[in-house]
Amino acid sequence: MDAISYERAGDVAGAVRAAQQPGAVFIGGGTNLLDLMKGGVARPVRLIDITHIGGLDSVASLPGGGIRIGALVREQYPLLSQALLAGASAQLRNMATVGGNLLQRTRCGYFYDPAFTQCNKRMPGSGCAALDGHNRMHAILGASPQCIAVNPSDMSVALAALDALVLVSGPSGERTIAFADFHRLPGDRPDVDTTLEPGELITAVDLPPPLFSAHSHYLKVRDRASYAFALVSVAAALQMDGERVQSARIALGGVAHKPWRANAAEQMLSGQPLSQATLKKAAAAALSGAQPRHDNAFKVRLAQRAIVRAVNRAAGYTGGVA
Ligand SMILES: Cc1cc2nc3c(=O)[nH]c(=O)nc-3n(C[C@H](O)[C@H](O)[C@H](O)COP(=O)(O)OP(=O)(O)OC[C@H]3O[C@@H](n4cnc5c(N)ncnc54)[C@H](O)[C@@H]3O)c2cc1C
Repeated sequence: MDAISYERAGDVAGAVRAAQQPGAVFIGGGTNLLDLMKGGVARPVRLIDITHIGGLDSVASLPGGGIRIGALVREQYPLLSQALLAGASAQLRNMATVGGNLLQRTRCGYFYDPAFTQCNKRMPGSGCAALDGHNRMHAILGASPQCIAVNPSDMSVALAALDALVLVSGPSGERTIAFADFHRLPGDRPDVDTTLEPGELITAVDLPPPLFSAHSHYLKVRDRASYAFALVSVAAALQMDGERVQSARIALGGVAHKPWRANAAEQMLSGQPLSQATLKKAAAAALSGAQPRHDNAFKVRLAQRAIVRAVNRAAGYTGGVA
């Protein structure tokens, strides 16, 4: 077994400095990282514990009405708290952090098990066993011939719909990343999940003013009622003017390598009365580019129906739909 050192960072600058050592990684709650280490998928030699950095566990108001959640904070906003409560178990949620949730790795079985020698995400250039393997849980949108894994985070789907901003601090200073640009599609570098640079620490997530809090819903469809990752999830957020949708935000989970914004569907709904016919057309448009594999074609219809249901729930309609 490899020796591992442990260091508790006292502040952001110290954490960023420590992370520049070879083989160093940040550790939040450890609920994903330690699993990956136990399975031999991740092999860090230095753990930089960020859970004692003052200020990262705070929630602060922003000028203009939004809020800032520190990277160690766990719950905010209706859509966001529904998504958070849909994830994992109470014990895991108590340990897990915002930063760690955003950076948790895919749950693809071929990635998690080093006995499989083909996984471009774990070993670039080795192939993708999921392409012709068991791919019931895998991507139907935005995948590449290199990787069809999906991002497993529930919280990220809500943050994508809310147009959150990710604040990071690194060797080159501080910067802000729009949530849409934070996670990557696999392309020919499926080993790289995000646009974070090496050694960058997530310090906070900013949420814009809560324009959607009266009309939002997070719907997670999964094999079991709890403690299961999404087959498909939908974060729907609306601004309503009576029966008319002023603007719509729809993000999907469980379908792609990153939280997937359904831009075409959002445009079809915005400025229109919310009719079931329009909603079904919008849901079809959201999945029009889907390319399912042999085990997961069911996700296309499932995602369409989940969009219809989530948007109806967000609008306040509860019966007789989808
Ligand atoms: C059985 C099980 C079921 C689960 N079900 C769900 C589910 O349904 N939905 C869901 O969304 N999640 C689920 N999870 C995932 C869980 O939520 C993640 O494991 C958790 O969010 C990771 O947070 P953490 O703080 O423990 O991260 P860690 O394990 O500490 O870290 C994860 C990664 O993030 C990096 N990191 C951590 N914090 C920072 C930071 N501030 N800046 C930069 N890098 C950082 C670490 O280096 C590491 O690479 C499940 C987990 C388990 C074990």
